[in-house]
Amino acid sequence: MKKELLELKDKIVIVSKNRSVEEIMELYHQGFRIFGENRVQELLVKAAGTPKDITWHLVGHLQRNKVSKVIGLCTLIHSVDSFKLLEKIEKESKKQNIITNVLLQVNLALEDSKFGFEEIEVPDIIKKAVVFNHILIRGIMVIGPNVDDEKAILDVFYKGYDLYNRCKEIKQPNVCINTYSAGMSSDYKLALKANSNLLRLGTIMFAKESA
Ligand SMILES: *Cc1c(COP(=O)(O)O)cnc(C)c1O
Repeated sequence: MKKELLELKDKIVIVSKNRSVEEIMELYHQGFRIFGENRVQELLVKAAGTPKDITWHLVGHLQRNKVSKVIGLCTLIHSVDSFKLLEKIEKESKKQNIITNVLLQVNLALEDSKFGFEEIEVPDIIKKAVVFNHILIRGIMVIGPNVDDEKAILDVFYKGYDLYNRCKEIKQPNVCINTYSAGMSSDYKLALKANSNLLRLGTIMFAKESA
């Protein structure tokens, strides 16, 4: 693995979807402790089969009927994309008497992405969420546009960083903004340039050393 990635250990969520426990353990032995999955069922299986000091994140779309399965297991949910989902997370977290950390997924790429809040509604959603005292809003998650134009990708990541900073200004008890989740294998360098502090990396982390 690239030295650069080893040095970014605390900023990397290794997205281990479709990877085996053996593959996860190779990275675990290199010191990585934050792993993410995009499907609940796979998350449950991987979490059950790996050491307990791994921190699990959910990075993919979460259906409301699966929320109860991940509360208490997931340290951070990156993909909250509706107010109804927030309501459900609050309800299940209250039942278990715990506080769940979440990021709001924001659709900044202006593609026909199915998921994510519009940029403009995010501050209001956060304010509206003030009633949820079993949720802690930690920041936002952005998926870069699927294009070759680096400038276009960087623009989206900077837009996300700007929104992240505006969210930081919101002072309310269940808001503690410190996480900007942006960057995947193909665009993480651009995301870092735009001040992402949490990269979601799959492909590049599991790639066998080529040189
Ligand atoms: C799969 C996935 C990733 C990682 O993608 P790579 O291109 O393999 O790095 C990151 N974020 C989300 C939401 C994903 O589903």
